[in-house]
Amino acid sequence: MRTKFSWRTGVTAVAVSLAMILTPAAPALAAGDDLTPAQSKALYQRIEKLLPKNAEAKLAALRDRLNIPDTDPRDTIEAIIDPNDYVCEETEVAGYVREQTAGLSQTDLLNLTVILMLDPITYDALFFPEPEADRFFGADGEYSKRIHRTFRGLKGFWDIDANRIELVPAHGSTLLDNDRVARALKLTLGVTQEAADDLALYIGEIVDQDKFEHGENPLFTFNAFAFSAEGMAVPGVGEVSDKIVMGDGILEGMKALGMNDVAPDAILGHEFGHHIQYQDGLTASDLPAPEASRRLELMADTFGSYFLTHADGKDFGVRRVKDFVRMFYDLGDCEFASAGHHGTPDQRAKAAEFGAVNSLLPPDRVLPSRTLDKRFEKALPRIVAPDVETMTPEDAS
Ligand SMILES: [Zn+2]
Repeated sequence: MRTKFSWRTGVTAVAVSLAMILTPAAPALAAGDDLTPAQSKALYQRIEKLLPKNAEAKLAALRDRLNIPDTDPRDTIEAIIDPNDYVCEETEVAGYVREQTAGLSQTDLLNLTVILMLDPITYDALFFPEPEADRFFGADGEYSKRIHRTFRGLKGFWDIDANRIELVPAHGSTLLDNDRVARALKLTLGVTQEAADDLALYIGEIVDQDKFEHGENPLFTFNAFAFSAEGMAVPGVGEVSDKIVMGDGILEGMKALGMNDVAPDAILGHEFGHHIQYQDGLTASDLPAPEASRRLELMADTFGSYFLTHADGKDFGVRRVKDFVRMFYDLGDCEFASAGHHGTPDQRAKAAEFGAVNSLLPPDRVLPSRTLDKRFEKALPRIVAPDVETMTPEDAS
């Protein structure tokens, strides 16, 4: 397992530095302007006081239980806070995250990290999504048409019950909605309504600064993932539908990195691949943890790429799909070059290539998802083998 962000470490560091200054009574907040350093620190302290001592563990347990992946930029931010603790090769995506945090003070970074740790946007999207008619993608809805079209394409392409899957956005502006944030935090942290309301207020004050683009900083929503409660009820919510959550920030980030021609569709195609795994019962394996997770990610790449390159899917060029997949998984993962967990960028690229190879072979009709999986399982040893450089039609037989 990769190292999880230790929010407590941050708290200790700040507590030490705070002990050296007299904390003034919190001054009135000037609307529209950035907070003073003292105001930012005061908010951090108030949030810390309100959080249950086991907040981080509690959320980690919830994420584990519901199988919500940790694909946010916290690792990279943590590396910026304390570079000595991390040996993280700077990838394009990590570089982008770094750019988004340029000029932020230590306190700003800690505030940002606490908000990402609490992640009310994700829980709001999962448990309290807007009605379908009100959903839009991209901060200003600029991706709505494209995302909806590709989602419709995926539903028609694959042989699973896609009507069970809801596609929901994640917007940074949610952080300014005190009621939504409080509702999510009350549920996930088990705090009182009063504490949740206060937390939501303080989070809103932190986020509503120019330096955080009043919620539009892409790091707040630098995330996309597939979710299935697999029939389990979520305490306090009841039954939760299967979902794909699509953050505005990840779309914006991929655009900034020159990947807009393929990224929105590729991300959706990959996440849809995870739903194929849920519905076809492909998630279980005898592999140990890192290899098991790598198999699922590489398989989702193959499903995604098959759809992207197939003439009945998006009919994209193979090179572009491979490049994108290789880059996407650099996201915030300091161990991307190690053998385990997510798979290396090269393995990712080969898994995507394998999907493409299959899409270009006869028959022209779309393969049943289970058939493609069978081919994938057979090819997996070659996809992960360091000495195999490319996947060929023979691998698909
Ligand atoms: Zn995935």
